[in-house]
Amino acid sequence: MTAQLDEKVEGIYQEVLQRNSGETEFHQAVREVLESLGPVLVKHPEFRERKIIERICEPERQIIFRVPWQDDRGQVHINRGFRVEFNSALGPYKGGLRFHPSVYLGIIKFLGFEQIFKNSLTGMPIGGGKGGSDFDPKGKSDDEIMRFCQSFMTELYRHIGEHTDVPAGDIGVGGREIGYMFGQYKRITNRWEAGVLTGKGLDYGGSLVRTEATGYGATFFVDEMLKVRGQSFEGKTCLVSGSGNVAIYTIEKIHELGGTVVACSDSNGVIHDEKGIDLELVKQLKEVERRRIGDYVEYRTHAHYRAGGNIWAIPCHVAMPSATQNEINGKDAAALVKHGCIAVGEGANMPTTPEGVRVFLEAGIAYGPGKAANAGGVATSALEMQQNACRDAWSFEFTEKRLAEIMKGIHDLCYVTAEEYGTPGNYVNGANIAGFIKVAKAMVSQGLI
Ligand code: GLU
Repeated sequence: MTAQLDEKVEGIYQEVLQRNSGETEFHQAVREVLESLGPVLVKHPEFRERKIIERICEPERQIIFRVPWQDDRGQVHINRGFRVEFNSALGPYKGGLRFHPSVYLGIIKFLGFEQIFKNSLTGMPIGGGKGGSDFDPKGKSDDEIMRFCQSFMTELYRHIGEHTDVPAGDIGVGGREIGYMFGQYKRITNRWEAGVLTGKGLDYGGSLVRTEATGYGATFFVDEMLKVRGQSFEGKTCLVSGSGNVAIYTIEKIHELGGTVVACSDSNGVIHDEKGIDLELVKQLKEVERRRIGDYVEYRTHAHYRAGGNIWAIPCHVAMPSATQNEINGKDAAALVKHGCIAVGEGANMPTTPEGVRVFLEAGIAYGPGKAANAGGVATSALEMQQNACRDAWSFEFTEKRLAEIMKGIHDLCYVTAEEYGTPGNYVNGANIAGFIKVAKAMVSQGLI
């Protein structure tokens, strides 16, 4: 169990449980935000009168659709597609698409809910949404991926648009998938509408730095938290779970800033390389050859691979969970703290369980929750939309500078808000409260819709 809920929000939470039964990840994400909001309702009675929290917890629109496709042998498969358009108070719905067998409505709703506050924190004009499918891209041929993406877009296209809803990638959806979906959208609509998807290839409306943005941004965020404590990445031993897009560019930026990442992972196991993870090798294995991380030890024989191992058992100064939800439980968090971890920055969405969050907060370490720490990905998507809107393409240096400024802005906003609400250093409260207030004010201004 986590902290007590303020009586002003307890009833709202009970109603969310009832209306969305079985969607445990969504319940968890809602509860974590509601735990911070009691004092906000005292300061802003208008949010209570206008039932802002109740409205925020109910998506504006939920779309569920059939995705039929044929594999290379001609066999027909049916998957389920989702797009949850959660909140458009600040701008068009914005958020990624996740293709993973674990996907169901509860996962998409937790991600969409988080996205509302994350997008608000970026300061960019984007609302919150999320989508995806229970399709498993693992082991599929390139042709199968293309046919699936085309079928997915054949339904999704009617719900999206640069002023309506702008999807991007998430787990299982990268540049290749966005390309296939963009092509199908263009073919169906006969519109060259760059701003309908972000994470596009650089040849057709993509932005430099978008690929690196989530990992770089999370590292910038942790760097800011360390600076507040008079520290830096220099000489720090770091753990980065995962080995996908977020993990890869987190490792890259940590190494640039003088830290050493000694371990990364995938869903099968953990690589421990005390000399520091060889990033070029990881990129080659995961991005080019699409192999498993365990193959790393074929090329770096001094490193260790533990099938089914737990990365959080390895001592570190900084931990950056960058794989998936609920990957750090209470025990893992306690082990990290015990072994001297001073900062945690979440590259993944909700990677720490409520028990784990409590351990980090009680230990007083610098803990940057995902909706703040990993907002650099979606913030750079918003920069891609800006470039698309004025048919421009910015340099790498300029775009990375904008990303770094945005991450510092998010850090400072969370920090100041946490202090203002009497919980200095608590980035969870800072992110929830600051993210919420902006959306709530916009909703009050826009009337009962
Ligand atoms: N999927 C990413 C996230 O969780 C990025 C979303 C986007 O760029 O729209 O924030």
